[in-house]
Amino acid sequence: MPQRRKIGIFLCSCGNTISKLINFKEIIEYFKNFKEVELIEENSFLCKPETLIGFKKKIKDNDLSKIIVAACSPQLKGTIFKKTVEEAGLNFNLLSLVNLREQCAMVYKEKESSTKSAIDLIYSALRRIKLQQPISSKTVRIKQNALVIGGGLAGLQTAINLSKLGHPVVLLERESSLGGNINSTSLVKYNHNNINLKELVDKKIEEVNNNPQIEVFTQAELIKLEGIVGNFKATIEIKNKDTRRERKSLNMGAIVLATGCQSYFPSEKYGIDLSSQIISQSQLEELLSSKKAGLNGINTICFISGIIGDDQRLKGDKLFNQALILTTKYKIQVYILCKNVYVAEDGLEELYQQAREKGIIFLKYDQKKPEIRSKASINKIEVSLYDRLLGKDFYVEGKELIISCDLLVLEEEIIPAPGSKKLSEILQVGCDEEGFYQQKNISLQPVFTNRKGIFVVGACRGLKNIIQTLDDSGMTSLEIHNLLKEKLVRYNLDRAMVDNDKCTLCLTCLRTCPHKVIQLEEDIELNQVKIKISDLACEGCGICVSQCPANAITLPRYKDDQIMAEIAQTI
Ligand code: SF4
Ligand code: SF4
Repeated sequence: MPQRRKIGIFLCSCGNTISKLINFKEIIEYFKNFKEVELIEENSFLCKPETLIGFKKKIKDNDLSKIIVAACSPQLKGTIFKKTVEEAGLNFNLLSLVNLREQCAMVYKEKESSTKSAIDLIYSALRRIKLQQPISSKTVRIKQNALVIGGGLAGLQTAINLSKLGHPVVLLERESSLGGNINSTSLVKYNHNNINLKELVDKKIEEVNNNPQIEVFTQAELIKLEGIVGNFKATIEIKNKDTRRERKSLNMGAIVLATGCQSYFPSEKYGIDLSSQIISQSQLEELLSSKKAGLNGINTICFISGIIGDDQRLKGDKLFNQALILTTKYKIQVYILCKNVYVAEDGLEELYQQAREKGIIFLKYDQKKPEIRSKASINKIEVSLYDRLLGKDFYVEGKELIISCDLLVLEEEIIPAPGSKKLSEILQVGCDEEGFYQQKNISLQPVFTNRKGIFVVGACRGLKNIIQTLDDSGMTSLEIHNLLKEKLVRYNLDRAMVDNDKCTLCLTCLRTCPHKVIQLEEDIELNQVKIKISDLACEGCGICVSQCPANAITLPRYKDDQIMAEIAQTI
């Protein structure tokens, strides 16, 4: 069948938002006599369902072969226009979207400049679309189950959510029982939202154990992972009762990392070791949670926060809770020494207010660290600091303020759980400077990783409270459901493609692909190895295309000739 060559240009005034700043008549005059342009017209609210019906009809009636929509940002309405064009019988790649609103109308002060810019952009799209070809699609069968690694609150909740959404789950826990940090009574015991974490986790464990959709392996670890999203091949190792190690191979659609975190006392940063009078926050938490709190004879407790780092995140939560319990339940005078008071989390402002009202004294120190001295003769610990906030009556330049206390409590560092680094290497998932798993985008895609189909939940991406952990689990479960809800997945073949005849096997692409979707594959017929790009998992970022020294990789929607045609007028 001969290919149709008629191009339609649809301008959208977006009410009057765009047309009051761009002269549409001038644009229509400019393009109407181009031989390849069959139709150019102005519409208002082209994205409205009733206008889209007319849009579709005009494509069919005029037998248009390629479409340019010049409207708002493709980020906002691109999907709607693509879908409509496909419903009109055209391939999605035969549509070009020009952003007249955010990229033109909102940028220029004078109508003349914005109109000129609009003409340039439409002309670029016109030159480019002439070279665009239909892109085919492919259907693959995927696994609809998920592997959750980590049996703490985050892992348990994610497993429960996924099973409710119809996805079988395999839950791996490296310890001998489920529960995560709740088993070590540290990190999250006191919470301002009054959720009893122990009770909550016990309930979740029971729910998981009674759920036939969730298979639990304790004393089990992931030791190998192959494949891509929808078809991961995971090898796990399980320690049996007789300490024999058994290996199992699992085919999974998605993977969830919920390995949590741990606390660590950095004596090197404080320059002191823990003792009976100098304890860590976790030790205090254990004291407070034991029946005999061991606080007899303690009248004054001093907390120091902020020495090991400014990034306190939720440490404030724990600090305020412990201080409040000591003041209200044990009638102990509490001092909190910190650089800054962080209350930028739900409920922290309220806890801080309560702490002030109950007589807890906050003292702020500057860059100079508080000095800690042991006064064995009087069985006290002395802490001295320069307080920058005290009024002139109290503060004499250079004079130290000294707090004498019975117990000194020092903040700990929160670090990734044991085995996180090894797991990141097996999964090829990136980590941040502190060793926590790195989110794909901290604001927009917080539970995604650099690898499609592998997600991070809860404290393994940085300390989280209970509510945040449950939110994370909910978000991840929905994302996985979106990904795995159909057995057969259809996707467009607009991802990176390699021409193995040009490839010199330098492996630059394999090393540079941030999403780890390029592999070496053996071609048995030709008895040689070749580069294989997993098109389902490729994110189309284009890094391999720009790095390949042999120009062997292309992205079908960003071919060199198309880009050159688009920018021809500018260069
Ligand atoms: S970078 Fe290019 S030449 Fe090198 S292995 Fe990859 S495809 Fe082949
Ligand atoms: S475009 Fe290339 S570098 Fe980017 S994800 Fe795909 S294969 Fe990897």
